[in-house]
Amino acid sequence: MYRTHTCGQLRLDNNNNTITLCGWVQRVRNLGAVTFIDLRDRYGITQIVIDQNSTDEVKQLAESLGREYVIQVEGVVTERSSKNPKMPTGDIEVLCKNITILNSAKLPPFTIEEESDGGDELRMKYRYLDLRRSPLQRNLMLRHKTAQLIRNYLSNIDFMEIETPVLIKSTPEGARDFVVPSRMNPTEFYALPQSPQQLKQLLMIAGYDRYFQIVKCFRDEDLRADRQPEFTQIDCEMAFVEQEDVLNVFEGLTKHLFAELKGVTIDTFPRMPYSEAISKYGSDKPDIRFGMTFTDITSIAQHKEFPVFNSAESVIAICAQGCSEYTRKQLDSLTEYVKRQQIGAKGLIYVKYATDGTLKSSVDKFYDQEDLLKWAEATEAKPGDLILILSGETEKTQMQMGALRLEMGHQMGLMDNKKFSPLWVVDFPLLEWNAETNRYHAMHHPFTSPKKEDMAMIETSPGKVRANAYDLVINGVEIGGGSVRIFNSELQAKMFALLGFTAEQAEDQFGFLMNAFKYGAPPHAGIAFGFDRLVSLFAGLDSIRDVIAFPKNNSGRDVMMDAPSQISAEQLKELCISLVKKI
Ligand code: ASP
Repeated sequence: MYRTHTCGQLRLDNNNNTITLCGWVQRVRNLGAVTFIDLRDRYGITQIVIDQNSTDEVKQLAESLGREYVIQVEGVVTERSSKNPKMPTGDIEVLCKNITILNSAKLPPFTIEEESDGGDELRMKYRYLDLRRSPLQRNLMLRHKTAQLIRNYLSNIDFMEIETPVLIKSTPEGARDFVVPSRMNPTEFYALPQSPQQLKQLLMIAGYDRYFQIVKCFRDEDLRADRQPEFTQIDCEMAFVEQEDVLNVFEGLTKHLFAELKGVTIDTFPRMPYSEAISKYGSDKPDIRFGMTFTDITSIAQHKEFPVFNSAESVIAICAQGCSEYTRKQLDSLTEYVKRQQIGAKGLIYVKYATDGTLKSSVDKFYDQEDLLKWAEATEAKPGDLILILSGETEKTQMQMGALRLEMGHQMGLMDNKKFSPLWVVDFPLLEWNAETNRYHAMHHPFTSPKKEDMAMIETSPGKVRANAYDLVINGVEIGGGSVRIFNSELQAKMFALLGFTAEQAEDQFGFLMNAFKYGAPPHAGIAFGFDRLVSLFAGLDSIRDVIAFPKNNSGRDVMMDAPSQISAEQLKELCISLVKKI
């Protein structure tokens, strides 16, 4: 037997027990008369003591130890004279009787402690060493626990976990597919699923009316910050349900996870139409931990000779409470912020509502106190507040104001990371116009059903049709999304036509699904949550990378394995692939 206990287990109750531990040497402190070893495994750290009573052999072995050596220690548990209340094992130490070196270790390239001195890339290259550190161990444990809770919760309400294949047909769903050449079928390719969307719909047709899977999905997208080419979804589908049924089940799951993992009770999940999210928050994933919603002041701002406002489609204002004392420098830096390329505003107008009741603005040349007071009333500003105004084309201005609102929320400390404010954004548009391809694209995916009451507009103004689609947003982060599906083959064919597919293309790519719809498809709906993002939210992390055991870097590379990599000429030949130079 290698060990009787783990390094996180021993307490005063074990006093005088003879025990055996195994682990990694975190640190050796030689104080002359005594030597201390911090012995670590994933359960914790135990202090090992070598003193004058230890044998010479043990003393010599202790001296030969380096960081991260793997050792086995036999000894007797004793009460510490100076206890360490910060460590769960801090009341005891182990008087060492014997050391066996199980394996030596090269000096690690960075410190393996709570805080490491290693840079990002280095720690990614030696991920197995970084994973020994307790912050990462805690994250992976949280991930495991979250997955267990989800499995139990969904299983208890009759969901079945069913695996779907990883090698499937290439049916682009929005992003590019990763493809895998087939040796047995030269010139043909499998694709890795962007999500098991069509397979889960087929499971509904097959009668498995409550399906879920914690499943890897793959999207060959240009990498943005905090995107991984492979990621994990909690994928679900239900039959004989309406939108509300799906929202209620997943609200229940989300509440359960918050209660179990964070001890947080969440009462309400407001539902906000997409149009309101955009017009009040300038985002389809609004952070509603704080207000500062938009006021459209176009009609009360266009009656004077100020050309910037007069030529604008929309003039939008927010009120930053208690910020009337913002300095010139602070206002200049806000202007710089909205003018940066990613945001793209031309300028920023402000009105300071001083505590003495006077109003001072950057457009005093054009507007008098009476005008400014009207804006203050409209935005519900009080003395002491600051009004910030952007103008221009409606959609762009909303997005720009959305960014400014978040920046102000940040500066004003309104984004409390102990507070969780979920909501459902509902009634998304069915389609969005793509100016590059000059056609409509499905906003969610082509299997999403249009709202019944909007069906009449599908031929005349397809852009106005709303979908039975919904997103769960928590603290401004999109956690998941789904929709009620089309389950009628004619409507599905119509949808593909609307999206610019010829009948042949639709048949070629989605024929199996449309055909399946003809064999008794029940009404169905579903959702997928981003599992990595959910865990990172629970862990209080901004990035999903540290809740994934072996993530890719920002260029989509696995720097530890050095993947992707070239394959041999022989392999290429077998796959009938000849490489062409990228032009
Ligand atoms: N398959 C969708 C996605 O991955 C989710 C869904 O509609 O269930 O975003």
